[in-house]
Amino acid sequence: MHRFRQFIGGEFCDAADGRTFESFDPFRGTAWAEIPRGGAADVDRAVQAAHRAFTSGEWAQLTPSARGALLRKLGDLIARDAAKLAAIEVRDNGKLLAEMGAQLNYLPQWFYYFGGLADKVEGTVVPLDKKGFFNFTRREPLGVVAAITPWNSPLLLAGWKIAPALAAGCTVVLKPSEFTSASSLELAALFQEAGFPPGVFNVVTGFGAEVGSALVEHPLVRKITFTGSDVTGRAIAASAARNIKHVSLELGGKSPNIVFDDANLDDAVNGAVSGIFAATGQTCIAGSRLLLQSSIHDAFVDKLVALASTARMGDPMQPDTQVGPVTTRPQYDKVLRYIDIARGEGARLVLGGGPATCGDGWFVQPTIFADVRNDMRIAREEVFGPVLSIIRFEDEEDAVRIANDTAYGLGAGVWTRDLGRAFRMSERIQAGTVWVNTYRAVSYMSPFGGYKDSGLGRENGISAIEGYLQTKSVWINT
Ligand code: NAD
Repeated sequence: MHRFRQFIGGEFCDAADGRTFESFDPFRGTAWAEIPRGGAADVDRAVQAAHRAFTSGEWAQLTPSARGALLRKLGDLIARDAAKLAAIEVRDNGKLLAEMGAQLNYLPQWFYYFGGLADKVEGTVVPLDKKGFFNFTRREPLGVVAAITPWNSPLLLAGWKIAPALAAGCTVVLKPSEFTSASSLELAALFQEAGFPPGVFNVVTGFGAEVGSALVEHPLVRKITFTGSDVTGRAIAASAARNIKHVSLELGGKSPNIVFDDANLDDAVNGAVSGIFAATGQTCIAGSRLLLQSSIHDAFVDKLVALASTARMGDPMQPDTQVGPVTTRPQYDKVLRYIDIARGEGARLVLGGGPATCGDGWFVQPTIFADVRNDMRIAREEVFGPVLSIIRFEDEEDAVRIANDTAYGLGAGVWTRDLGRAFRMSERIQAGTVWVNTYRAVSYMSPFGGYKDSGLGRENGISAIEGYLQTKSVWINT
């Protein structure tokens, strides 16, 4: 059993009361790591350390250029250790090594990009309507940031928060998901090696109801940046409202992937399959509602089933595996429950439909339901697993209506060769990201976030740093 330790104030340590919990390998269904079970005392120590670093430590004295240089150095260390970090994540969450490897090879770019922005934050001189005053603005960091992450892409999603927060000059306490804590603790060692002053970056591990809620409620935390389920997001937003804290939320989705009859159908089939089955469907942007135009519906379903049924399940560490296990036992049970619900609602099963036997892991067959109506629960609620719902539409108007008839608004795909239609659809769909003739592309340069119940605020892109800054207006009587 591997043993990990928390990272608080620049030092690795056990939980204050010595408690631990186990982290599971979803491919084998067995515990592989022992993680400190932090509590309110650990959170308080970490937030105090972050607050000291923010207000009076070496970090507070660094020039923005020096902060940027540290972030770029961290990026280099992540690049050096990407393979090792990826192997830890695969062990913890069962995603394919190919996907995790690609994610973590890309992660350094966040630290290079936001490191490069650290010394480009500028205030303005305000052209006043009054004589005798000089008025300018300063852009200042918010303070201690609580970053709370889910289990599906632990380090990538942490990086989306940490890089802009530190570039802005904030300090961070990260609370990773209790299902996938190990890689964040490994990342902490790289912060130490890069030479970040103590307290700038801290990791407290444990459960949402213990560590997560203590962190969110801590009076010295000025901003909460959260990625996870909408249920937790609502609780966090309510707490932030009570305590007047800044908050950004990256929540769930029920993203429509819309195929028109003028699309390149081979590309669209590939996009539909990877849109839902990549990462075993456990991505917030999963294209979980496939909207097919009536004229191509039947032929498309045949092609789709033919392709999806060839997906090889197995050990996520093996390069030829295409679908890995579901990450957690509760998630496995939830996915199977939704398959039963869809059956009960009268959706027509055309592929899969149950557990898959593959070693001792938590495997679910890639599952496709046709004849889904958009008012069924399987079309409205986030399953977060390898389950696709196919919904038929007649024309553009119909497609827009169905696509937008959801509480969520994270991503959407449009497959068409008609340029005018591509523009019209991208304008009319209520989602933070619209992909045309592609699906699931993300970049550190391009804003990412949700419309409607999918969240508040944007990560990635130049504007992400704004989420960690506040503006001070300074008046000089001349
Ligand atoms: P979750 O909400 O159960 O947990 C997320 C994190 O919140 C974990 O670290 C958890 O310990 C913590 N937490 C739980 N209760 C808390 C509380 N009361 N106070 C503070 N923290 C608490 O989500 P999950 O199951 O880990 O992740 C899956 C969800 O995340 C899905 O809904 C998915 O769509 C969403 N997600 C969204 C994005 C995005 O960018 N929009 C990306 C990935 C995942």
